[in-house]
Order: sequence, then C-alpha cells, then structure tokens
Amino acid sequence: MLLTTIAGSLPKPSWLAKPETLWAPWLLPPPMLREGQRDAVLAALKDQEAAGIDIVTDGEQSRQHFVHGFLEKLEGIDFGKRVTIGIRADRYKAEVPTVTGPLRRREPVHLEEVRWARAHTQRKLKFTIPGPMTIVDTLADEHYRDRPRLAMEFARLINEEARDLAGAGLDVLQLDEPAFNVYMDDVAAWGIEALHRAIEGLAGLQTAVHICYGYGIQANIDWKRTLGSEWRQYEKTFPLLAQSRVGQVSLECANSRVPLSLLGLLKGKDVLVGCIDVASHEVETPEQVAATIRQAMEWVPPERLYPCTNCGMVPLPREVARGKLRALGAGARLVRRELGLSVESG
Ligand code: ZN
Repeated sequence: MLLTTIAGSLPKPSWLAKPETLWAPWLLPPPMLREGQRDAVLAALKDQEAAGIDIVTDGEQSRQHFVHGFLEKLEGIDFGKRVTIGIRADRYKAEVPTVTGPLRRREPVHLEEVRWARAHTQRKLKFTIPGPMTIVDTLADEHYRDRPRLAMEFARLINEEARDLAGAGLDVLQLDEPAFNVYMDDVAAWGIEALHRAIEGLAGLQTAVHICYGYGIQANIDWKRTLGSEWRQYEKTFPLLAQSRVGQVSLECANSRVPLSLLGLLKGKDVLVGCIDVASHEVETPEQVAATIRQAMEWVPPERLYPCTNCGMVPLPREVARGKLRALGAGARLVRRELGLSVESG
C-alpha cells in the first residue's frame, strides 16, 4: 500500500544534455550518445531506488521531448518539415514536425530502452508514452486533416508498441495526456475512445493515464494564474475515466488548486497523487508529503493511492530532483508507519 512512483522524467546529467532546459539539445555526438543515455538510465534507476521509490521509470533519459521521442521512428512524419504552432489551445509555442503521409510503425520505438531498464532493476518498472490526443496537439498535420481520425491512427501505433513493451517485462504503461486538461469536450467525444484503442488487449500490463497542468515552466505558471481559485478541469474528465478501462490515473495535487473532493470521482481506479510540486525548487519535507497523502486518503483508500510527482522533473536542477525523490519516499514511509504497514515494501 502507498507504493511510490514518479510521473516519468528526471533531469539528465549535465554531460548528456544542457541542464535545467526543457527539450534540451544533446551534448554528446551521435557515436557516444546511446552509451551516454544508457549510463544516465542507470543513474536514474539508482537515484529512485536509493530514495525508496517503489515503481521506477527510466527517467526518460533517452528522449529529448516527451512527445517527439515517440514520433521520431514513425513513418509518415517529416521532421525536416518543422513548423512553429501554438499548442495546448495556444498556451505556448512549440516547433513541431508534420504528418505528411500514412502513419506506420516500421520498428519498435522504445523497446531497447525498456529492455535496458528492465535488466537493471528488480523493482516494478513503468514507462511513459504520449497519449493520442496530446500527440495530435503537438504536431502539424497535412495528411489526415481530422484530429479524431489522426488520434485513432496514433492509438493503433501506441497499441503495437505497448504489446512489444509488455513482452519485454514492463509492469506499467503510462500514457501522458496533459491535453485532457485543455480540450475537455474532446475527451468525451473521442479522447477516451482513443485511449481504449491504445490499450486494447494488453493483458497483464497495468495502464495509467497522466493528466497534469504541465511542467513547471513560466508559460504554465502564467496559465495557472488564469484558472481561478479552484481548478475544476478534472471534474469533467474523471467521471469518464472512472468508467473507462484505464487502470490508473495520475494527477496534480501538491501546491495546486485542485479541490481534493474531485479525487472522489475516480472510484474504483488507482490514483497516482502528485505530492511533489515540480514548479518549485524548494524541496518538500517528508512531513509535507505525508500531509498531502493524508489529505488524499480522505478520498482514496490507501491500497489505491500511489504517492507520485505532479509532473515530470526534467527541467529541475538534478540535486533538487534528488531531494524531492527522497522526500517522496520518506513521506510515504511516514504514513505507512502510521497505518501500521510494512515501511519498506509498502
Ligand atoms: Zn505532466
């Protein structure tokens, strides 16, 4: 109970990519890059294990961008044809590739990364892939010209990938859908259907969807200021997710204005509660993490509650992220002790 995990990403070592930078360029030349990424995964696993994180990830050390990393190996997307568009309803500008033809997955995208991480940790392993709606919102499309149809195409490719990753011993596949907090009507119209297509037939693989208010970057901090005293975006999507076939929902909680009563809308689901604020360099104390867990326990039973981070930690200084990992692990242990549970294994 109260098993800890993270949303996905961790900062990269300063010899691998430019520090404290979102979508940072690689600092190693191509012949050395792969080896560097693998070494960085070992460090990310070690940091999580040392902090007592129960369900670990590769820290997304092998991708520059959480969406485009999945797209790079797909046929039908032209990375030479980059355009700058407003994404997440024009909240910020991003340079994105263009869909120019029929989409096809020529080969597995992240299989080697999952195999490498799987071979180097005994803990449960989670891996993240962007969800269909978020992918569609993070590229330009000259071919399908229909967002729901394009989303279903990506869902099909995600499903092919997920089957390969499950075969490599992955425990949890998380689909990142920050766009679910922006296009709430589309979630009902086709977002859930696309998720279902993406996770179809994945027996034995736990599935999660991560819905947040974004990385702790200035554009998101500014956006949050416009959302009023209560953030109720989840109110529309959680009832749909509670009815869905997705097993887990990862959400933002610590230092947010999400009313905790909204967690009650996720009955029957595992809830990954964000206990670590990724928009602040201030490291939480274990007691602060424990307080967030206790508050969430009013709405989510401990066997369904997974203390987690609000979002990815990739833009943070590495030492800050390490401190936050340790606080997350220690905070969960505090509450386990209070509940008379085994402290180390949850
Ligand atoms: Zn996030």
